[in-house]
Amino acid sequence: MSALFLRLKATMSVSADPRPASLPRVDAAQLGMVLDNSYANELTGLHAPWNPSPAPQPSWLALNTELAQALGLNADAIAGADGLAVFSGQALPTGASPVAQAYAGHQFGHFSPQLGDGRALLLGEVVDPQGQRRDIAFKGSGRTPFSRGGDGKAAVGPVLREYLMGEAMQALGIPTTRALAAIATGEQVARERPLPGAVLVRVAASHLRVGTFQFFAAREDQEKLKRLADYAINRHDPDLAGQPDQYLGLLRRVAERQATLIAQWMGVGFIHGVMNTDNMTISGETIDYGPCAFMEAHAPDTVFSSIDRDGRYAYANQPLIARWNLARLAEALLSLVHEDSDQAIALVSDVIDAFPALYQAQWLAVFRRKLGLVSSGNDAEDTALIEDFLALLHTQGMDHTLAFRHLADAVEATDGQAPEMMALAAPPGREPLLAWLQRWQQRLVSSGKSPPQLAVALRAANPLYIPRNHRVEEALQAATERGDLVPFERLLTVLKAPFDVQPGSEAYALPASVEQQAGYQTFCGT
Ligand code: AMP
Ligand code: MG
Repeated sequence: MSALFLRLKATMSVSADPRPASLPRVDAAQLGMVLDNSYANELTGLHAPWNPSPAPQPSWLALNTELAQALGLNADAIAGADGLAVFSGQALPTGASPVAQAYAGHQFGHFSPQLGDGRALLLGEVVDPQGQRRDIAFKGSGRTPFSRGGDGKAAVGPVLREYLMGEAMQALGIPTTRALAAIATGEQVARERPLPGAVLVRVAASHLRVGTFQFFAAREDQEKLKRLADYAINRHDPDLAGQPDQYLGLLRRVAERQATLIAQWMGVGFIHGVMNTDNMTISGETIDYGPCAFMEAHAPDTVFSSIDRDGRYAYANQPLIARWNLARLAEALLSLVHEDSDQAIALVSDVIDAFPALYQAQWLAVFRRKLGLVSSGNDAEDTALIEDFLALLHTQGMDHTLAFRHLADAVEATDGQAPEMMALAAPPGREPLLAWLQRWQQRLVSSGKSPPQLAVALRAANPLYIPRNHRVEEALQAATERGDLVPFERLLTVLKAPFDVQPGSEAYALPASVEQQAGYQTFCGT
């Protein structure tokens, strides 16, 4: 038994269950799922070897054939009995050695020294035909040594929500973990009321989080911290390996990736909802779609999560929280950055202090593209143009997604005003909106592009379809209450081509009614 495991036992609020029984094996080669176990093998002591709890009566909710193929898996074999057995925890592929990963995290600003995979397991890694290594992990696969009081399970609703959100983000071009499959377990899980249980099979560039580093830093376990950082560098930033300032370099790269990611979230109006440090990846992928939601009417203080009472993770706070989380990563890396702590602090502080400018540059790039400002312009003027548009959306309560989408209609309209756009603003706001559109079109002249060319670029930058909250709820409810997957599948199809006009799917582009939007709340889904 590893030292980590003993330490966990000593700090756990509940005693560890016995490791679930060893499982039958199915041929990995036949599934095309030849697993590599670099995390399990290279980071012994940083995880607990564990098995999934078998689902009693598994059935498919969804299988992401396109992703399976992209990973180089045998999608037909995966869709068969062996695939279902593996994804439901009834069997393991040959060569798999699953582990529950250790991590800590700041949750709503408060440090929890031990979180970890309480309802998740890393099955192993696959290397895709392009040579990219990806984790295959389960969520909802039963209790582990990190479960504390939880049951280790997940319900159908949150599993399908994560599936939809991840695929929507992928189609929007935003870095994300993705669902490979969703399986109904055939058992009920006890929540406020009994709900059908499910397992999500999740694919990620890695599951390394800010909180993974915090776990070992908080225990002052220098040896494990260094092994973890070296592993992260080899996996995500191999060009840094062996450089004298490689750990500072890692921090800088994570900052760059997060600046890029959060700017993209802001572009589409995505609100993660629970940006705790254990939910922030080193890879720069979006992870843990719990209480997340897309904003409809543009308002910087929008919060959907029922537990975010102070609005810590509101739309407009996300870049500030990203910087706060990076400061926590910097703290965790201090002892590796420099042996002299004052020097280490000075070095990491430079990176953290540079984050706002890094983010601002990414934000400007994202919103320039959304406004079709492709030719280089004056940064301050373009920033003002963007901010003034966002302020109009806010004061007019305009739908974030449609307001940007209708910019294409505005450039195509001979009078430059597109009735679809005007209809989004209340009558007193139409004059300021018209004035802004004129200012914007003057700026567009310098692009040297024709209106049809601009419209194409604008439609490629601004989605027509996002996962509207009422549509997501409708899909999850049908699946949960009636086992009806048709609304889920229909919505998923729409979300997979968010920039294309899809005849017959017009209703999916529309915001919720005022009544539906009022007081809309999301829940953590544990
Ligand atoms: P999350 O809110 O999903 O980011 O999870 C925060 C922490 O709570 C992680 O350590 C999870 O593994 C743990 N957790 C969440 N739900 C459960 C559950 N049903 N059973 C056991 N652990 C859980
Ligand atoms: Mg999490």
